[in-house]
Amino acid sequence: MTSQKIYGLIGYPVKHSLSPAMHNAAFRALRINSEYKLFEKKPEELDEFFASLSKQNIYGLNVTIPYKEIVIKYLNGYKSYGVRIIGAVNTIVVGKDCRLRGFNTDYLGFSRHISELKLKPKRVAIIGAGGAAKAVCYALAKKDAEEIFIYDIDKNKSIGLVERFKGLFPKCKFLAADSIQNLETKNKDILINASPVGMKKDDPCLIDSSMLHSDIFIYDLIYNPVETKLLELAKNLGVRTSNGLKMLFYQAIIPFEKWTHKNAPQEVMWQALNEAVNKL
Ligand code: NAP
Repeated sequence: MTSQKIYGLIGYPVKHSLSPAMHNAAFRALRINSEYKLFEKKPEELDEFFASLSKQNIYGLNVTIPYKEIVIKYLNGYKSYGVRIIGAVNTIVVGKDCRLRGFNTDYLGFSRHISELKLKPKRVAIIGAGGAAKAVCYALAKKDAEEIFIYDIDKNKSIGLVERFKGLFPKCKFLAADSIQNLETKNKDILINASPVGMKKDDPCLIDSSMLHSDIFIYDLIYNPVETKLLELAKNLGVRTSNGLKMLFYQAIIPFEKWTHKNAPQEVMWQALNEAVNKL
């Protein structure tokens, strides 16, 4: 019998993740001797963790908050176009030669979901300017967004994001807001939360009802909890919303296929994800 291959999610924190339910159900369905685990690592533990992947039988990783950008430095093999342009990685494949190849499937997951929702946002407001926000910006600019306004608690991050994208998409205006009020949500088609605010029970709602209008769409990348305070506020006002569950599902398909060289059993994965949600 071949030894069990390990895959998993590296981040800090990772306990909120529903990825193990999805990937482990897929491994079982295809009778693949593998397990998907959670690796909650502090920043000072990263060097050692990445140096010991083969010792731990780790063949592939997903990357989450707050490491999507910093882990690029560990990639010593191919970096996909998406990783190079976005500056963030969420999928790592460990090759037979022990080289680490990096991909970004977050932007594909988000892009596929907003197409499914039939959204074609032109004017966009985004809270957060980390790895996920960059993937979202790339997806939206590719879909002909005309104006993307970013607010991050760290102004240097919003400015860095604007600098990264503005030359790449001349038809899209990228702007950094210096406060959340200046996101000017009143004239936006969509407001996206790509910050971690809302993951914890006692997190505040970053906006108030005066910042919403009936035609805006509120997309929160968070999926655990299923309904953040932001989504609750929007729903109560009759505003259309989505959480990040479908994005999570769509971004997971490609890593599974890259790791196993098999078609992902999508129905199994979606069902497992929903079962996991129902247990929250
Ligand atoms: P990240 O790289 O750490 O970026 C988050 C950014 O938000 C950071 O720049 C952070 O600034 C900023 N931020 C923190 N508090 C803020 C506030 N009050 N106002 C404005 N900005 C604030 O994390 P990430 O990987 O991009 O992930 C962001 C969120 O998206 C997480 O909740 C993650 O779980 C979710 N996500 C979901 C999916 C999905 O498939 N549904 C995919 C990717 C990510 P500081 O660093 O200064 O704190």
